[in-house]
Amino acid sequence: MAAKQNAKAASVLKKDDLIVIGGAGGFIGGSLARYFHDQGFTRIRAIDKKPLPEWYQRTGGVECLCLDLSNEKNCRRACEGAVEVYNLAADMGGMGFIERFRIECLRSILINTHMIESAYRAGARRYFFSSSACAYNVELQKRPDAAALKESDAYPAMAERGYGWEKLMSEMFCQEYWAERGFETHIARFHNVYGPWGTWDGGREKAPAALCRKVIEAKDTGARDITIWGDGHQTRSFMYIDDCTQGIDMIMHCNDLIATPINLGSNFLISINDLVSLAEEIGGIKLKRQYDLNAPKGVGGRNSDNTFIRKVLGWEPSTPLKDGLRQTYAWIEKQYRDRKAGQRTVS
Ligand code: NAD
Repeated sequence: MAAKQNAKAASVLKKDDLIVIGGAGGFIGGSLARYFHDQGFTRIRAIDKKPLPEWYQRTGGVECLCLDLSNEKNCRRACEGAVEVYNLAADMGGMGFIERFRIECLRSILINTHMIESAYRAGARRYFFSSSACAYNVELQKRPDAAALKESDAYPAMAERGYGWEKLMSEMFCQEYWAERGFETHIARFHNVYGPWGTWDGGREKAPAALCRKVIEAKDTGARDITIWGDGHQTRSFMYIDDCTQGIDMIMHCNDLIATPINLGSNFLISINDLVSLAEEIGGIKLKRQYDLNAPKGVGGRNSDNTFIRKVLGWEPSTPLKDGLRQTYAWIEKQYRDRKAGQRTVS
């Protein structure tokens, strides 16, 4: 599908307008900083609470600040002089993290609360909030063949406990800043994002990275088994990182999407069992599957209904899962080898 002539940062901003990105030491924020740098923007301020050596990516020429954005004063500093603010900072991870650490997830509400107020006070022109498909009503996601989620399915609300409710509340903040104060906000509900430079080990990783790592480990150690969380019938869709950064840019600069949550995700639905098969095919190995029925497995099925994004942008994420997973697998394999060789890696 050909994208419409959508407005983007490159057509709307001056190259030296200051772009501020919260959570830029992580996967999507780090990729977004690189994306804007590659577009020729010369003033990008990247912020994360992690010490600089632990950032997943650091792009040359980007100002990198180590600040805890749950603190109001730090948010003021972060937003000084900003023309656009992108909030990608959150304490989050895959199901293994968000089902166990609900308080940490809920506390991310402090980040958005202080960032949006600071962006507003700094006179920023636009504010972006990274919401999630976890904001949707869980009652609609019980079965693997559950209907794809459309934007109106968030209400009546019954979001994922902790993480999902934080997203829903923060979305509401964004909507009310526009309604009450005329501050332009944009909200994307991401469906699982994967790709190089994402978390691949340590407990916060999501299914595509975790399964690639397990296949790589099995090949390396000679193990013949792979452990799968749940019965493997649960379904999801997965969006490649390059589609995500491009989508963020278009959503942020679309006048029809002010204070209007929109899905940003792939609508290619796949079961976890089929995702394992794909990772095995890439790795050139077949493993015996062990199912851990006590492990966190999340909802039964979740897909993105892309009717709205197609209508408003004439575009939707389209990188084939097979291609994106191949890139991801190769990147994780290199990380795995580097770590074995005692080198510093992303985790
Ligand atoms: P990530 O964990 O890789 O990055 C988030 C970053 O935020 C981390 O580097 C973390 O250190 C930082 N952070 C956390 N608390 C902070 C604080 N108080 N101050 C400053 N920095 C802080 O996660 P990601 O995958 O890049 O996700 C980015 C955003 O997208 C998050 O809001 C997340 O909820 C949302 N999202 C991601 C996915 C996905 O599949 N990756 C899906 C839905 C929504």
